[in-house]
Amino acid sequence: MVEETSQCRPRRIGILTSGGDAPGMNGAIRAVVRTAISNGCEAYAIHEGYEGLIQGGAMMHPIHWEDVRGWLSRGGTLIGSVRCDRFREREGRLQAARNMVLFGIDALVICGGDGSLTGADLFRSEWPHLIEELVSTGALTEEQVAPHQTLNVVGLLGSIDNDFSGTDATIGCYSALSRICEAIDAVFDTASSHRRGFVVEVMGRHCGWLALMAAIATGADWLFIPERPPRDGWEDDMCSIITKNRDRGKRRTIVILAEGAQDSNLNHISSSAVKDVLSKRLALDTRITVLGHIQRGGAPCAYDRWLSTLQGIQAVKSVLSMTPETPSPVVIIQENRIKTSSLAETVALTKEANASMHNKDFEKAAILRDPEFLEYHSAYRHLNTTDHPKLLMPTDKRMRVAIIHVGAPAAGMNPATRAVVAYCLTRGHTPIAIHNGFPGLCRHHADAPVSSVREMHWLESGDWVNDGGSDIGTNSGLPSDDMETTAQCFERHKFDALFVIGGFEAFIAVSQLRQAREQYPSFRIPLVLLPASMSNNVPGTEYCLGSDTSLNTLVYFCDVVRQSASSSGHCVFVVEAQGAEYQATAAALAAGAMTVYTPDRPITLRSLSGDIEYLRQQFLQDHGANRAGKLIIRNDQTSTIYSTSEIASIIKHEANNRFDAHGVVPGHFQQGGKVSPIDRIRAFRLAVKCMEHLETFAGRSAEEVMADERSSTVIGIRQSHILLLPLGGATGVEATDTDWKRQRPKTQAWLEIQEAVDSLSGRSTHS
Ligand code: ADP
Repeated sequence: MVEETSQCRPRRIGILTSGGDAPGMNGAIRAVVRTAISNGCEAYAIHEGYEGLIQGGAMMHPIHWEDVRGWLSRGGTLIGSVRCDRFREREGRLQAARNMVLFGIDALVICGGDGSLTGADLFRSEWPHLIEELVSTGALTEEQVAPHQTLNVVGLLGSIDNDFSGTDATIGCYSALSRICEAIDAVFDTASSHRRGFVVEVMGRHCGWLALMAAIATGADWLFIPERPPRDGWEDDMCSIITKNRDRGKRRTIVILAEGAQDSNLNHISSSAVKDVLSKRLALDTRITVLGHIQRGGAPCAYDRWLSTLQGIQAVKSVLSMTPETPSPVVIIQENRIKTSSLAETVALTKEANASMHNKDFEKAAILRDPEFLEYHSAYRHLNTTDHPKLLMPTDKRMRVAIIHVGAPAAGMNPATRAVVAYCLTRGHTPIAIHNGFPGLCRHHADAPVSSVREMHWLESGDWVNDGGSDIGTNSGLPSDDMETTAQCFERHKFDALFVIGGFEAFIAVSQLRQAREQYPSFRIPLVLLPASMSNNVPGTEYCLGSDTSLNTLVYFCDVVRQSASSSGHCVFVVEAQGAEYQATAAALAAGAMTVYTPDRPITLRSLSGDIEYLRQQFLQDHGANRAGKLIIRNDQTSTIYSTSEIASIIKHEANNRFDAHGVVPGHFQQGGKVSPIDRIRAFRLAVKCMEHLETFAGRSAEEVMADERSSTVIGIRQSHILLLPLGGATGVEATDTDWKRQRPKTQAWLEIQEAVDSLSGRSTHS
């Protein structure tokens, strides 16, 4: 429950979606409606954006708990969104204010783009004058307006373009990116078969975020975005890079072009112009693919479901706690944290970014959009589209960088390795793959005919941009299994740095090497760990590579399973999730499960019978209206007594033929196939950061490395920051954030979402 701090606490909260639609908007509506109801308010749906507010009547109506059932997985917006010019005029807003009062709505949550939020803020600032005018013209009476002296407004950023300043992501942008990557992955195959070139045009209006992230996620050969116009003579630059890539053996050529692509004089660069250059100059059989509205559609990805749900909850909290003096807030996300900031300031910054672009101040536009934007762009350029001697390190600072995968396979291991290899080759380092983890290293240590240690080249890692699993092989064996041989191997192969990718075992491995440095001089090299684990349980970070891919796979599985009940009606599915508590909890939130069982929330006879009773009531009230099944997600380590099938049998037995229950286990399916775009771009970003860090040790002596705590680090996302944290020392991650017994971090920020799962399913109000 939200604490009542406002004297004029809203009782009826209206929700509308405006501007362009985006996947995830329905999840936001669902969360707003249910959180409003849980807090004793009524929720009102306003159809067709501001048009509905102006028309009133049937366009505005109460929306109930059950009405939004199943909305989390639906694309677009189910309450409609049209552009409404009348709301830009005061007359239109006057009519809207009248309807608000007539319907008794005293707060609005608006999900849309910068235009929609500008309109919302204007509406709020004008509110007292609009009310005054409505009374003075007799359109409303003093009594009618008395409870409506103020209007609370909260904005949610819904847009596939991710063109807002001050937030990392808008609701819908990662779903659109997923659609784009799916399409380009498909184009890959045909492009490769016929050695063709493809110019792929992606949406994003005047913003290049989607195009930039798609280029990183697919390893495109060349990219055009509005914020970074190519220099004059780009035709030569592009052709030379593509020729170089072809000479290296690359069979396909992908050029990504943002719809707002332009040159430095703001002249539009069209996909046909780019195609002509490739066809004429390189005689490349080139096709154009314009992805168009496909990018807007489809089910939201797990991230958008998570984001829209938590932001919807936050929007209601903000609406209930604001005072007349509080500036209208907008809900944002920075790295992993949902926050609020000033709606007017966010919109002003966004407008400034757009204005900077018109004034040809592209640098400022990119910085205003997102401080990380330029970093992503320059890393992409250096690793994909340049081959410049000035990027090479001086010869005495070039390192032999060993790359090893440790623990269970996780999506993101291959793209991260690809980024490390590209970084090394661009800078003159030697990337060396260690096959099959530490046991692989030791197994072929002598002069064996097969070597598990190999220098890597451009082409062999080329396809790893979207491949799941680990192509160099991963193994859970630890250095301590044979420390002596491990040390000898390090010495023999003259490693100057070790890049470890993996989960909790990888963390233990780096810790062991660090501690063994006293005894084995060959370990006195910089060690870095990039966490990759679907369990998302590496200390020092809130996010591990692979966790997003696995989550999307699990959520997709849940959607399909739930849908399968539609022919038979009332059915409960108990889905068993691997991947520690994280996967079960995050999937429960993203799939809209009734509840989640994890080792931290043990199942008891009492809790189980409470849940069965809740299910009974739910099915009774529903009268079969909603035919999709209900979900309970159970982490596979939850209980030795209450197994997945056992729980399903108990539920079925107790249901007394009123409803059915099944236990379902996705098993290894959950590891996922192709790597999700989030895992791909984070793999890229974090790998580059790790390499930059390792480079700071280039040319330093073994003693200096030993003495520096930052010579054994784990990279992580914590709150709003990407950090490289030392493992050892009093303040190191081993001492401060490691639960060695349970093999997980001491702090798990995402645990709080368990509460959100129960509150949005209604289970918490029931129990
Ligand atoms: P987006 O919200 O995606 O940026 P638009 O710019 O088309 O999309 O805005 C959506 C709607 O928001 C408009 O149709 C209009 O009703 C309202 N709106 C936009 N800008 C303003 C404004 N300056 N004043 C009042 N209403 C506005």
